[in-house]
Amino acid sequence: MDYQNTLTFAAEQDEQDVLKDFRNRFLIPKHHGQDAIYLCGNSLGLQPKSSAQYIADQMKTWEKLAVEGWFQGDDPWLEYHKPLSSSIAKIVGANENEVAVMNSLTVNLHLLMISFYKPSGNRFKIVMEGGAFPSDQYAVESQVKFHGFDPKDAVIEIFPRDGELTLRTEDILNIINQHADELALVLFSGINYYTGQFFDLQAITRAAHRAGAYAGFDLAHAAGNVPLKLHEWGADFACWCSYKYMNSGPGGISGIFVHEKHFADTEMNRFAGWWGYRADKRFLMAPGFDPAIGADGWQVSTSPILLLALFKASMAIFDEVGGIDILRNKSVALTGYLEFLINEINKRRGDEAFKIITPTDSDARGGQLSVVCTKNAKAIFKYLADNGVIGDWREPDVIRLSPVPLYNSFTDVYKAVKHLSEALEAVK
Ligand SMILES: *Cc1c(COP(=O)(O)O)cnc(C)c1O
Repeated sequence: MDYQNTLTFAAEQDEQDVLKDFRNRFLIPKHHGQDAIYLCGNSLGLQPKSSAQYIADQMKTWEKLAVEGWFQGDDPWLEYHKPLSSSIAKIVGANENEVAVMNSLTVNLHLLMISFYKPSGNRFKIVMEGGAFPSDQYAVESQVKFHGFDPKDAVIEIFPRDGELTLRTEDILNIINQHADELALVLFSGINYYTGQFFDLQAITRAAHRAGAYAGFDLAHAAGNVPLKLHEWGADFACWCSYKYMNSGPGGISGIFVHEKHFADTEMNRFAGWWGYRADKRFLMAPGFDPAIGADGWQVSTSPILLLALFKASMAIFDEVGGIDILRNKSVALTGYLEFLINEINKRRGDEAFKIITPTDSDARGGQLSVVCTKNAKAIFKYLADNGVIGDWREPDVIRLSPVPLYNSFTDVYKAVKHLSEALEAVK
């Protein structure tokens, strides 16, 4: 796309935007009475206006039916999660029975590692990206220790080459190959939270399988942001949260993917609970765990209906959009515009006040750009906040900006970068 550095251009793009009406479905925080410029959907997506009603409906069911709400009413709680599997399966590229909506993200990562990290003999190592989200690092370290290994021996982290900021796929694949005899698991994020790099998950999956290891993914920054084909790629498992790009509220419900090729393996370790029991017999309350076939068999606890209600409000919007590709088209254009405008600042000044560490190739990133402020970083971030631009800060000098196609506009992006440019003058 031929971008232009004018408000008129941005407004024209907004006018032609097929998703433009969706912005009005969300509650946009205010700054001095005006819509703030919210570029923080990578951290917490905005609240759909419909969410409150979804919650209110369930409060009403609880009020009117109390315990009978599990079995009666328009939308009995026992089945409440079912249609959600169908919506989320489309978003992550899975069959409906390969996904389950449950728990929170790090909890799910632990549960899945119980099934898919099975060290035996020489095969006890895990390859992961260096600088993974801290919760994932802690989860992996504690799992490794739980099996009696020292993380120093068992966890292989891959870092960028000297002088480079992101990982090369060839390096990832090489390291997997090099350790082929000792690998139990390759665990990557879909999109690295810090750099915004979108990894080649298909290539990683293939390499992991060639090495005789499982491939699992944490899709916190990828689900609802970029197209995914977990089933087709043959990934063994994945998990994600829904409060980032899927707008289901702070601490919103997570989800898991388990590839159907594993459903027949009845020996697989799993930390079981009654909600994973086959649904037709769950209430016989019999001894001996008989899991539901499919990802549902990994469920542990009673469905948290209020969290599911928030997720349902969000999924209704995604369903209405009619496909992640439609979101992705706008996302690529919006993020490209953000990149173009930031580079314009550097060009005009003849320096590199802002250095984008996210890959320039749109296939290797999602909506987020991570911007290093080479001078006065903290003060620039504060200037943005004082002027109603909400991004987020990562130590020591990175501002993450994530235009989200459901509710951000080209005008948002234009104005945000205008403030960024002004900040350079203002905080000198
Ligand atoms: C956001 C995020 C988390 C957060 O996990 P919670 O259990 O929801 O607190 C974990 N891992 C990654 C990669 C994330 O981006």
